[in-house]
Amino acid sequence: MSDANLDGAIAADAVIVGAGPAGLFQVFELGLLGIKSHIVDSLQGPGGQCTELYPDKPIYDIPALPIVGAQELVDRLVQQAKPFAANYHFGQEVSVLKVLTDGTFYLETSTGTRFHAKNVVVAAGVGSFQPRRLGAAGSDLFEGKQIQYKVQNAAAHHGKHLAIFGGGDSALDWVMDFAGKAKSISLIHRRAEFRGAPASAAKVMELVQAGKVRFIEGIAESVIAEGDAFKGVRIKRNDNSTADIDAEQLLVFYGLHPKLGPIADWGLGLDKRAVTVDTEKFQSNIPGIFAIGDINTYPGKKKLILSGFHEAALAAFAIAGRLNPTKKVHLQYTTTSPIMQKRLGVA
Ligand SMILES: Cc1cc2nc3c(=O)[nH]c(=O)nc-3n(C[C@H](O)[C@H](O)[C@H](O)COP(=O)(O)OP(=O)(O)OC[C@H]3O[C@@H](n4cnc5c(N)ncnc54)[C@H](O)[C@@H]3O)c2cc1C
Repeated sequence: MSDANLDGAIAADAVIVGAGPAGLFQVFELGLLGIKSHIVDSLQGPGGQCTELYPDKPIYDIPALPIVGAQELVDRLVQQAKPFAANYHFGQEVSVLKVLTDGTFYLETSTGTRFHAKNVVVAAGVGSFQPRRLGAAGSDLFEGKQIQYKVQNAAAHHGKHLAIFGGGDSALDWVMDFAGKAKSISLIHRRAEFRGAPASAAKVMELVQAGKVRFIEGIAESVIAEGDAFKGVRIKRNDNSTADIDAEQLLVFYGLHPKLGPIADWGLGLDKRAVTVDTEKFQSNIPGIFAIGDINTYPGKKKLILSGFHEAALAAFAIAGRLNPTKKVHLQYTTTSPIMQKRLGVA
């Protein structure tokens, strides 16, 4: 592969692609071993899926935190990594990753930031994910306003007439969450069967039977508007009849459209759009490029936040070994290691 022009490129021991929970914990694990990192995300801030898709939802399976809000978890990860003063580069997608002849890496982002890195950790989750759109005539004008694909601030929807679209867990969870808080809720799904958890589906059907939620089988045909003023949505039922819903806010949960984006072109071994890695170092087929979190795959992989944490710890040890091949990387405990405590700023 031809070498790139490295003039002005930021020299880095490690560049992390993706600032979701896995990428954030990677900053911490590298920092403990004395390695400073640069971390890049196409979103405007940290948190990946937690912040983008379900900031207000509680998570129950983070070790030692019986319950933690998704955004709170992200805030805590950022705080935990703070002593290591990583450089955060937000609002830019890593679009180019080239292996140089000496085995180091050249990376370039969509806004022109360039890196010359000794190691790369791909922590890109589901890639640069895009929500599946509502696809109703006239939606364009109201996208991001009266038509939203995530709940950023649940309280902002209280007291409103809501139309919720979808049949998966997100749609069902939000119907249950807003029941009794919104002025009205209409749930629109193309079938009477839901993809979400059976217990949630049963609870939602109870709400429908109790008259607290209106359920319509169908799809959004068009937005109802008077000029710039949003009025609601016209639903086409499965029998081709239509129903007009007065709504102030449409919340659409048709799922994510995973877009691997540039990652597919980096020469990494892939299996079903995930980067194949070993389970010793979580290294890809290219030495020095690691993949952790939802983006990777290996026998037994489970796409859980805690899997990403474990993978980050082992990738950090492997990176430390690559940076200092003649030195054994000893396991040290944060409880007792003076050098780690110094790095943490608690010595
Ligand atoms: C509704 C919902 C509920 C969930 N509940 C739980 C739960 O209770 N417990 C649990 O363990 N897991 C849960 N999960 C799964 C969990 O959120 C994921 O496992 C976790 O977010 C994966 O973290 P990650 O850091 O690997 O990836 P992500 O969180 O997806 O972050 C990846 C980041 O990489 C960025 N990125 C991608 N490509 C590029 C690029 N080329 N350049 C720059 N940036 C890039 C993205 O913008 C994104 O911010 C839930 C998921 C959802 C959707």
